[in-house]
Amino acid sequence: MHVHVADHPLVAHKLTYLRDKRTDSPTFRRLAEELVTLLAYEATRDVRTEPFEIETPVARTTGVKLSSPKPLVVPILRAGLGMLEGMVRLLPSAEVGFLGMQRNEETLEAITYANRLPDDLAGRQCYVVDPMLATGGTLAMTIRYLADRGADDITAVTLLATPEGIAHLEHELADLDIPIKIVTGAMDERLDEKGYIVPGLGDAGDRLYGVV
Ligand code: URA
Repeated sequence: MHVHVADHPLVAHKLTYLRDKRTDSPTFRRLAEELVTLLAYEATRDVRTEPFEIETPVARTTGVKLSSPKPLVVPILRAGLGMLEGMVRLLPSAEVGFLGMQRNEETLEAITYANRLPDDLAGRQCYVVDPMLATGGTLAMTIRYLADRGADDITAVTLLATPEGIAHLEHELADLDIPIKIVTGAMDERLDEKGYIVPGLGDAGDRLYGVV
């Protein structure tokens, strides 16, 4: 598994305003979208392409276009929805599948409550979007789910991550023999006893949508 932590002043600047508890939901949504677009640039570095012949006004040349099957973007409901727009802006021809995952706040285990994904993901590159890589439970389940259905290259894009969450993923997904990449805006210090990221930004879903 490869972990890429964004090292960019614009990402750090936007994350700082995102973390600030005074930031309201509309601003939070806009910042999250902008951040995803910046992170998506790195996340799609290995997106599959194929040669494509074109003619410019001056000469024939060979460029590239995205290969088929097109990449699949998978926002994890509900907070991942706040990152979808920024991701498909960069990958407009991608398909989108939805996965509803929720944490049991006592056991911190992830449960699936909604699934709108193609059954067969053979040969698909998947981009999972979820703002908070906290315990890593939800993401581990999601990545295994996609891999079990044939996805052969999986990248997760998160705004924040924790060392504990990354260690959990490394452990849970050690047997998967496909490229797995995590692209995150920052690696925070730790998880608190309630499973919140410290310093983090609080509950991403509540901050995006302003409701509990
Ligand atoms: N989910 C959130 O929304 N925030 C955290 O800090 C951890 C998990």
